[in-house]
Amino acid sequence: MTWFVDRSRTEADWTCPRLRYLAYEYDGRGLTSNPSNLKLTFGLAVHEALAALARGVPTPEIVAPLAAALHQAAEEAGADEIGCRETVALGTGLLLGFHRAIWPGLRERFPAIVAVEPEVVLPLPHFTWMARPDLLVRDRQGDIWYIEYKTTSTTKAHWIASWTYAIQVHATAVAAERALLDGEPVAGAIVIGLYKGSVRQGRRQSVFCYGYGESGIAPFTETRIVYDYRPGWRKIPSWEIDGGTSQWVAQMPIGLLQQQYAESPPIFIKRDLVERFLVQRAQREAEIQLNLDAIQAGMPEAIERLFPQSFSSCYRGWDDPCPMLRICFGQVDDPLEAGWVYRDPHHAAEHVDQQTQE
Ligand code: SF4
Repeated sequence: MTWFVDRSRTEADWTCPRLRYLAYEYDGRGLTSNPSNLKLTFGLAVHEALAALARGVPTPEIVAPLAAALHQAAEEAGADEIGCRETVALGTGLLLGFHRAIWPGLRERFPAIVAVEPEVVLPLPHFTWMARPDLLVRDRQGDIWYIEYKTTSTTKAHWIASWTYAIQVHATAVAAERALLDGEPVAGAIVIGLYKGSVRQGRRQSVFCYGYGESGIAPFTETRIVYDYRPGWRKIPSWEIDGGTSQWVAQMPIGLLQQQYAESPPIFIKRDLVERFLVQRAQREAEIQLNLDAIQAGMPEAIERLFPQSFSSCYRGWDDPCPMLRICFGQVDDPLEAGWVYRDPHHAAEHVDQQTQE
């Protein structure tokens, strides 16, 4: 059986060994508490739409299925009708805004597309590393660059700077070099943030969702709608404006539109750091495999010793609580009876491997 490892299960292990066990190893499958997690499905849907854009699909053909997928995802997550419409306006707005304000400049700098969301599978001692870079492109000098998209609730300088130190960015580039590019080096990586705005009193605050209007007095003056907040003016949803969100984005001042995206400086790949990371990972993954063998051999109490709870990340206040909170803090004997379901792998290689096992 192939032992697959990716960014998310590595980060789960760093956050809390018990989270790694519950989310990825429980019963050989791992658990998820919320298959209709809107944050996750939103990010996946927008990534899929950006991939379609890179593959040359015209935007009207991307927007309709994206809007339908987002509406359904929001509905399944329990959003009310306004929440569903906000989700659609935000997702389609981010795509259309990207197409208008960011994509032409990217294509200018990187005229050749090398690969769009390729599945990268790199067999290593003790484990197989999986990654899926969003986009691999060539610049005008012929060098390969790796572009990563992130939907984000902040575009502050700290957030942008943090990507230089994200080992996932460096490891993905190295994995692509080895498993996909016949050893051709990746010159660097760029992370592009797509700003989702914030949520206040349950409502999304984003220029893609709302403008501000001042009612006119017919027939003397018309209703005026602007993009920026004006005291006393009422909030107007972009989907209610003539032409809907598409028109709203098409007419948005370009400077304001560009502010909805953030780009990291070029991140140059630290190959020696990735080598050390992979050695450390191999050691830890071998340990996890041994720990699971011990648990399967009938030592369930070994979980306490081998996958200890790191209580520092259960409920941090500024972020969603850990999805396993109720298991650790409640009385859950059988998570599958209590609402958790088996995790569905997001990488094709693991998915195929799991189906072969079944
Ligand atoms: S609730 Fe806390 S201890 Fe339990 S898995 Fe999550 S982070 Fe770890």
